[in-house]
Parts: sequence; C-alpha cells; structure tokens
Amino acid sequence: MAAVHTIVCRGSPLLRGRFRATVGPMPPAPDDASHDRPAGCVAPTRIRPMRPLLHASALLALAVLTQIGALAWLLALPPCRRPLAFAATAAALYAGLVAFAPLASPRERLGCGAGDGLATPALYCVLPRTYADPEMAALMRDLAGHMATRNPGRPPVLLDAGFPFLDGMPLLPHLSHDDGEKADLALWYEGARLRSPLGYFAFEDGPTDCPAAWPTLRWDLDLLQPLWRAAPLDEAATRDAVAWLLDDPRTGKVLLEPHLQRRLGLSHPKLRFQGCRAARHDDHIHVQLR
Ligand SMILES: [Zn+2]
Repeated sequence: MAAVHTIVCRGSPLLRGRFRATVGPMPPAPDDASHDRPAGCVAPTRIRPMRPLLHASALLALAVLTQIGALAWLLALPPCRRPLAFAATAAALYAGLVAFAPLASPRERLGCGAGDGLATPALYCVLPRTYADPEMAALMRDLAGHMATRNPGRPPVLLDAGFPFLDGMPLLPHLSHDDGEKADLALWYEGARLRSPLGYFAFEDGPTDCPAAWPTLRWDLDLLQPLWRAAPLDEAATRDAVAWLLDDPRTGKVLLEPHLQRRLGLSHPKLRFQGCRAARHDDHIHVQLR
C-alpha cells in the first residue's frame, strides 16, 4: 500500500498550501498548466480563499500607515517563499526602502537623527511619517533653533508631518497632511517630553462649546486619559513656540483649541480653531504653510 505524506507547496504565497499526496508513480499531468508554476511548486488541491484577502488587507494597512510598506510587501510577493522567509524578505525590503527614501524623496526627513534640532518618537521615523516640504522643513528647523536658545534641551517634538512621496495622499488620520506642507508638534510639558507614547490623545482639560455629535472625529477618548503621565503643560515654552510660528511669514495657519488659545494668552489672525467635527487640538499643535 502506498504511503501518504503531507507535501508543502513552495510556490507563490497566494497559492502556497499543504496537501496530502500518495507517494508512488505520479499520474500524468492533465495538461501543460504545470509549466506556468514557479520552480519547486506543486499545484495545491485547493486555493485558500482567505489568502488573497489577507494580502489585500495587509497591503491596505501598510499603505495607510507607512506608504512605502505596501511596496515592500508587493516586492516580497512574487518569489516562492515560506511564511517566515516571506516576512523576513518583506521586512528587509522595508528597511531598505526606509533608508533609501531620504535620497529619492522631494521632501526632507525631519527629527530622525539628522541633526536638525527636532525630536520625534522613533515610531514616526520607522513608519516613516516625518517628511516635509523644504519650506516647512526650514520652518521646523528654524523653530528648533529658536527654542534651543530660549529653552536649551527642550527641542520641539515633531509628530506626524507627511509621507516621503505623492502629493494628494493623506497621512491618515490627518486628512489635510497630504502635501508635506503640514506638521504637528507636541505641546511642551514640565518634566516630560510627552505625556502619551505617540504624543497624541493626551488632552488638556478646558471648556468647549462643541455639542456632542455623531459621526465626528472629535474623540475625547476618556478611557485613555488616566493612562497618561500627569505632567503639567509648560505654558511659557508652548506660548513661546506658537507665538514664534505665528510671527513667521512662512506660517499660514496654526490650529489650537480655543481654551488653550485663551490659557496661553494668544490671539492672532493665523491662530484658528479647527472646528467641532475635526480632531481635538489641545493635545498637539497643527502648523501649515501659507
Ligand atoms: Zn495636523
């Protein structure tokens, strides 16, 4: 009686699968379709319908979060690989693209060890989401220079700015960050660089005139607030930075929650409220060019 073994298809990740086969003389191929398969692949008995869906979901998530991550995933797909080899190849390609992006991008990478005086959480460099138009990059570097003289050791912390490529592709969830001309900065705090790991969602308390509404992007995230560090806002440093930005002719608009504008004693035609349906701006400062 012929033995039965499990055979692993070494083909495309889209078709790869395990199936049982009888060891012994192989039956003749019904047609010449096997000539089209990658070397080392045996036709699977069934195609897993979830596999294309998983790849499509991964591609979408990587495009939204990292832009170039989707390209790394696509480049890793064609060769015949096991899942672990595929993951390692995709990760290596991604690392290569992140390293190559500053050389090919029309924008400038900020806050990632470039000596520009800006700090940023490492995750934003890895993803990579700190690219800016040359004029915005210069504005951020000049702000860093100003803050270095006024608040040594307290550099501006850059959060989301833009992707390396493609005008018109938003840096979700920031719909307006689609051209490298916008950047988010963290608020300054006493005794801490950030209150939350990503710099977002640690809201300052203050009154609002916004009614409860649905749907809305104005999330309060009440459940997260007790998790954040209880560092008080450094009003002097935050006021200094925002005032400097407002006075610079390259700045077109700064978005800040009205209660923070009043608390910091700031008033300027360029200083705006983002509206009640947009994300709260009492956890960060949004800056955009004129
Ligand atoms: Zn923004």
